[in-house]
Amino acid sequence: MNKSIVCIGCPLGCRLTAEIETGSVQRVSGQSCLRGEAYARQEAVRPMRVLTGNMKAAGCQRPFSVTTSKPIPKDMLLACAAELKRHHPQPPIFAGDRVIENILNTGCDVLATQDCPPLFTVGSENILNTGCDVLATQDCPPPFIVERVER
Ligand code: SF4
Repeated sequence: MNKSIVCIGCPLGCRLTAEIETGSVQRVSGQSCLRGEAYARQEAVRPMRVLTGNMKAAGCQRPFSVTTSKPIPKDMLLACAAELKRHHPQPPIFAGDRVIENILNTGCDVLATQDCPPLFTVGSENILNTGCDVLATQDCPPPFIVERVER
């Protein structure tokens, strides 16, 4: 069986053909370099992709971006993306921090690619030793309870 693959190794986009027999690649043709051959051998039997996405830190509404440390099997992308939604690491988080270790036993870690600052609450004194306090700039009224009265 032949499988046609477009190499994504560089902008040339060589059209490769992988000849597959009994589940393994016997021959690759169409490549202009060794990188293309290695790509076709992997892509034909078990495609791999880097997963990028967003996560939310505990207590934060604004998401921060993440990526896997290396490509993971393509058929695990959806399961790993769901895993990103389940985890809520503690801020502060800095770009490059590992936020999930060995996601779904793929051997890959999930790394932050964006900072997620520490949580500030109104009333925090001397925030991060800046000598500044955090002050409210807007009213936040207490909640009120509504009760139905029978007439
Ligand atoms: S085979 Fe080599 S030259 Fe061709 S697209 Fe892939 S990386 Fe580029």
